[in-house]
Amino acid sequence: MFAKNTEQSPRRADATRSDLFDIAVRPVGATWPRRIAFSLLFLAASWLLSVSSDFDSSAQLAYIGPGAGIALLGSFFAIFIALLSALAIIIFFPFFLLWWAIHGRKKYAKAKVKRVVVMGLDGLEASLTEKLLEDGMLPNMAKLKERGCYRRLGSTWPPISPVSWSSFTTGTNPGKHNIFDFIGRTTNYRPTISSVRMAEPRRKIKLGKYVIPLSKPEVTLLRKSKPFWTVLGEHGLMSNIIRVPITFPPDKFKGLLLSAMCVPDLRGTQGMFSYYSEEGEAGATMDGDVGGDRILVQRRGDAVQSYIRGPANSLREDGAELRLPFKVTPSRNGKADAHLRVNGASIPLKFNQHSDWVKIEFKAAPGFKVRGICKFYLKRCEPPFEMYCTPLQIDPDNPVMPISHPVYYSSYLAREQGSFSTLGLAEDTWSLSENLLNEDAFLDQAYTIHDEREKMFFDSLERVRRGTVVCVFDGPDRIQHMFFRYHDDEHPGLTDEQRQSHRNVIVEMYRKMDELVGRTMEKLDDDTAFFIMSDHGFKTFRRGVDLNAWLRDNGYLKLKDGKRVAEKQYLGDIDWSETRAYALGLGGIYLNQKGREEQGIVEPGKEARALMREIADKLTGVVDEELGKIAVKEAVTRFDVFHGPYTENAPDVLVGYSVGWRVSWDAAIGKCAEKVFENNMKAWSGDHCVHPALAPGILLSNLKLSDDKANIIDLAPTTLELFGIDTPKYMDGKSLLCAEKIA
Ligand SMILES: [Zn+2]
Repeated sequence: MFAKNTEQSPRRADATRSDLFDIAVRPVGATWPRRIAFSLLFLAASWLLSVSSDFDSSAQLAYIGPGAGIALLGSFFAIFIALLSALAIIIFFPFFLLWWAIHGRKKYAKAKVKRVVVMGLDGLEASLTEKLLEDGMLPNMAKLKERGCYRRLGSTWPPISPVSWSSFTTGTNPGKHNIFDFIGRTTNYRPTISSVRMAEPRRKIKLGKYVIPLSKPEVTLLRKSKPFWTVLGEHGLMSNIIRVPITFPPDKFKGLLLSAMCVPDLRGTQGMFSYYSEEGEAGATMDGDVGGDRILVQRRGDAVQSYIRGPANSLREDGAELRLPFKVTPSRNGKADAHLRVNGASIPLKFNQHSDWVKIEFKAAPGFKVRGICKFYLKRCEPPFEMYCTPLQIDPDNPVMPISHPVYYSSYLAREQGSFSTLGLAEDTWSLSENLLNEDAFLDQAYTIHDEREKMFFDSLERVRRGTVVCVFDGPDRIQHMFFRYHDDEHPGLTDEQRQSHRNVIVEMYRKMDELVGRTMEKLDDDTAFFIMSDHGFKTFRRGVDLNAWLRDNGYLKLKDGKRVAEKQYLGDIDWSETRAYALGLGGIYLNQKGREEQGIVEPGKEARALMREIADKLTGVVDEELGKIAVKEAVTRFDVFHGPYTENAPDVLVGYSVGWRVSWDAAIGKCAEKVFENNMKAWSGDHCVHPALAPGILLSNLKLSDDKANIIDLAPTTLELFGIDTPKYMDGKSLLCAEKIA
């Protein structure tokens, strides 16, 4: 949906509000040096392309997916960025840090510590952490608990990463930061990515067969409110923020930031892998924004040929897809099983192993290249050939659009440690769900990404001696999503026998995280406040609840032509004239409200509120009859749990599932099944989209914290207080520091 959506958010007007909790992040704006560079590049481009006679400034421009368009426009800047980054890294970066260290010293006069380090372990589950602590399996975390404290950390409604990390970032409830789910509702029922809006450049000119953008594309972060690192920056204190979800496009503030969740791939989607095979049907494995393409290869004797699918070429009028041919030849030299030739380079491949990062270049127009990185995983070379390729990712060293602040920070990291994964959702869970990568290949990929993250984290600990370091590790979340059926003896997705092969993957992962904690503690001095936290817990996902089927059975939703089952995704089969409520995404249920939805029938105000209440009350305590157990612990209306200017964008009813249940796969993408309840047979077998009271995260610290209940919104005020800054009025959280001296 990322590449397809060009609609403006129905709440566009909000972006201009200027109250305290509405610090709308500006589109990536052109600074003067960049404008000059762009002008020079444009002049050069005009010369290269030679101004053609059919120049027409009012030419109808072919529709191009905004994500792809941006990727290509960025390539104009890439040359400049590469230049700037090379210069900046060589000349400025060490001085930059040194200058902060010296100049910033007096800004720390009120600080209680020199440094705050926050390690985010996405999805670490409280009950399992507690059990493993008790069993002596997590010795480093136990040491930390002994010295400081351990708490359960309350999460958000719903307890899912985009929502909870945004609350971490801003210290506010979702009603103030505007992120309620991965996807959001629009006026015309088509879903949209909730956290970022991309729009093509407004001004372009035609030069022959080329279309040259004259303005920048708009990439806008839809998360509102103000991150605590921006507040720190306003007080002259620096922060290094690494991969905290919902930070794309990157915040501009005093410090360094590497963007995470929602950074698109080179094609402008949230992650489309490619699967090359000699058999089967070519096409998309999933019709949406994530998933992949199956591409059929051509065999020439021993070798096979195919191509890498790039973005649509927005520099050409026809918007033709950029493609890069490659050839795989079996190898006889013993060091590799095959060689892949692409872009004039020869890449050695080993069977059933991920390759190193491969740099690829598409030629978009004379003098303009689009650069990216990917990895290959060759399964077999003899017929039938099979090979997987990761989504094409933005090259951190030559980013086609900024994925860090300052823009050269990603480049600096790439030069320090080599290429690394930049995609928002980097671990490719779909390829495992589709059985194209097996469990071991997925695990290998997840831990390699984890290792890349560790390198940047330790680099940051080395360099940032005063200020704040925050680094989020996604591995624990992705591994638990994909391996919970091995961990849960009652999961319907596997037999007891099948469960044995990867039975300990999750516990092993907790132990690995504990080792990371140990290595981190060795790097910390007594003047550092250290927090380990997770944004939510983790539970088994055995049964899906089709909310649309439930709404149908209870008379709130009607399908077209008297159908019972809706097969079209994204609400395509719904009869809006007789539908009062519908479900979409992981968050919950929306009313079909007059004046808000295109074909709305529910009167806003009293009628809408009464309907929300009615649905929430009816859903609370709903029983999964097949199992005779309560599937929904509690459903609430948005007014029950959110406050702030963006509450209206939230789902109208939020569903707090019991442990074991979650919204079904069908309902999440706007379909409607025959039955309300069904077994979840996918590899994605663990989840955390339950009632927030059932999925708290964890908080460990080397400080003794107050005994109050801790919530994810409290980390921002706590960090600010450690630097002597009072909690800003817009924040909902409170500092967790004790009145007494800190430990
Ligand atoms: Zn998750």
